[in-house]
Amino acid sequence: MSLDAIKSLPDVLASAKRITIKVGSALVVDAGSGVADAAWMRGLAQDIAALMAQGKSVLLVSSGAGALGRRYLGLTRKKLKLDEKQAAAAAGQPRLMSAWEEAFQTVSLKTAQVLLTREDTEKRRRWLNARATVDTLFDLGCVPIVNENDTVVTEEIRYGDNDRLAARAAQLVRSEALVLLSDIDGLYTDDPRRNASAEHIPLVEKLDASIEAMAGGANAQAGVGTGGMATKIAAAKIAGSAGCATIIASGQTIRPLSNMARFTVIRPQASASAAYKAWIAGTVVPAGKLMLDDGAVRALRNGKSLLPSGIVEITGQFDKGDSVSIISPAGDEVARGIVTYSAEAIRAIRGRGSHDIEGILGYTSGDEVIHRDDMALV
Ligand code: GLU
Repeated sequence: MSLDAIKSLPDVLASAKRITIKVGSALVVDAGSGVADAAWMRGLAQDIAALMAQGKSVLLVSSGAGALGRRYLGLTRKKLKLDEKQAAAAAGQPRLMSAWEEAFQTVSLKTAQVLLTREDTEKRRRWLNARATVDTLFDLGCVPIVNENDTVVTEEIRYGDNDRLAARAAQLVRSEALVLLSDIDGLYTDDPRRNASAEHIPLVEKLDASIEAMAGGANAQAGVGTGGMATKIAAAKIAGSAGCATIIASGQTIRPLSNMARFTVIRPQASASAAYKAWIAGTVVPAGKLMLDDGAVRALRNGKSLLPSGIVEITGQFDKGDSVSIISPAGDEVARGIVTYSAEAIRAIRGRGSHDIEGILGYTSGDEVIHRDDMALV
């Protein structure tokens, strides 16, 4: 099977190093037979392999567990109770994964299942754990396949739609592009199925109230599946605030990324790294404090990482991956950052050279107590 490079991608997709692709149930599950659409899945696997051959990492967010499980369990009533929906997801998820595994085998790629709940993307420690796992899967050349862990989440604590889940997943892995593949090829001024004069919008520079209004009302349910346009725009908003562009495109062709004729690109508000630093600086309650000497404060202000040698004192109890506040000798907060070592470990290595870390702790997680990429000056 040829893995010819994909030509003429939207620019935001061509320049992205990490891409999150979300596919809706209507694409994955054949409406007639109720089973996975193997040919379509193979086509997408080929497209993803072509992107990965260009050195990109791809996270796939796939719906379809509920739809596959319903048919498998014979739950054919239109309206199911919550526990029946969860049972359907439980039965459908392994079927969904094995269909993806078969599809990716044809392009010699390995797959891995990542089931997330809203808490996993909202509680910082779980967020960092999930991020580390997905990063490792990327390093191993694997395609992580994400779905919501539908069997354990109830209405009030679930995402409920995979558009917003995909936006959070894109933010989690620091994607520069999120592709929402469904049965509609972009945003329109009105629902094109009901209004023949609805106009397609190829590019949204700024996601403002007028765009949100377009996606609401009559247009909210455009497209089948749980989502519709309203959740796609909500997803684009989440992704955009994390520095990730959103592409809304139709997946109704056999290799949907190679054949993307018409789509809507929604540009992000900031770069992904600026957004990540804003997240560190703004949304996190620090778990402890690191008091520095003057030399270390100067180094941080010159864009350097924080090394153990410049740390004078530590307060609080925190673990690796927690956020801490960084304090100058005058008592001012100069930065916030995510630590590579626990409070206990930093107490042992403070004031020492990085080359001593392994000798003191018996292991090393790197030379830096806080890497500059994980630090925001305040
Ligand atoms: N997580 C659901 C499933 O796999 C899909 C949710 C959605 O369609 O947005 O069945």
